[in-house]
Amino acid sequence: MPLNDAYGRVITKMRISVTDRCDLRCTYCMPAEGLQWLPKAEILSFEEIVRILKVSTELGIRKVRLTGGEPLVRSGIPTLIRMIRELPNVKDLAMTTNGIQLAQFAPALAEAGLDRINISLDSLDRDRFHQLTRRDAIDRVLEGIRAASDVFPGRVKINAVAMKGVTELEYKAFAELAEELDLIVRFIEFMPLDAEAKWVAGDVLTGSEILAGMQKHVELEEKPFSDVHSPAVEYRFKSGRGGVGFINSVSQPFCESCDRVRLTAHGRLRTCLFSIQETDLLPIIRTGSEEELGRVLTQCIWNKEEGHQINNPDFQRSDRPMSQIGG
Ligand code: SAM
Ligand code: SF4
Repeated sequence: MPLNDAYGRVITKMRISVTDRCDLRCTYCMPAEGLQWLPKAEILSFEEIVRILKVSTELGIRKVRLTGGEPLVRSGIPTLIRMIRELPNVKDLAMTTNGIQLAQFAPALAEAGLDRINISLDSLDRDRFHQLTRRDAIDRVLEGIRAASDVFPGRVKINAVAMKGVTELEYKAFAELAEELDLIVRFIEFMPLDAEAKWVAGDVLTGSEILAGMQKHVELEEKPFSDVHSPAVEYRFKSGRGGVGFINSVSQPFCESCDRVRLTAHGRLRTCLFSIQETDLLPIIRTGSEEELGRVLTQCIWNKEEGHQINNPDFQRSDRPMSQIGG
């Protein structure tokens, strides 16, 4: 029986955060300093991650994405990928990374069996990148994107968080990069998951605003195409190389078709990005049985939230910033 929730959705995807640590400090995600790391003893080992995945995939999970924090700051990630690849029901294994260490790791990730990779990059301007990430490291990310494009041809996407007053300045540069490397740049609406709780609705630059702005710089195919792997609406460029996509989580929530759950680096199962309750799988994975784990997973997924409440005046923020959830 598949993993169903009470609203008729079938859950097939799991995003796994492998660490809450990171080598950048993006303003929309982490504070400049002072964030408490999750206790080391509580971080899931690779074996524990694989055991959770074994049970989850026997129940119906088919697609797995490794994320963080920054997944590549945890050592041995190619080993974890190899271990996950041994699970027969994992049909798709992807990663979201900031790209900082990708020039070094891309070949090993491909060799270990990673299928696809999303790289986060919000600005192609050195100073703006520095301001947004609090690190002067854009060259490393660009090198990482090129290295990934070599070893994952046609399987690299760029994700940019869209913010008013910032992203409008980047349309032309992103269009050029997408065309040059023949890849899709996807704009994700800024969500209230920043550690400093500074998000206000007025900061959100919507997908439709970006689409209109983009069309001034590049000709897009009239009809979007849908990628079965994602909630993004994507348009190819008329030139035949590259395209843009939009993940309109705030202006056009896609909760009705949400098919994913998240696992934090310390084993908390979250059935929504905005969950205010989570289920601690750590004691079960350390002292319980696979049957118990299966029962808990099935029950949690059944109770998955109907949808997020960002646009509701009573919206309650999660205590966890994005870096501790796994975006
Ligand atoms: N460190 C990796 C990275 O940046 O790609 C993986 C983890 S990061 C939390 C995953 C994704 O969440 C990134 O694409 C990031 O831009 C996005 N993100 C972080 N904070 C966000 C926010 N407040 N609103 C929208 N997206 C956010
Ligand atoms: Fe790190 Fe990714 Fe958060 Fe930026 S978005 S601070 S790279 S975890």
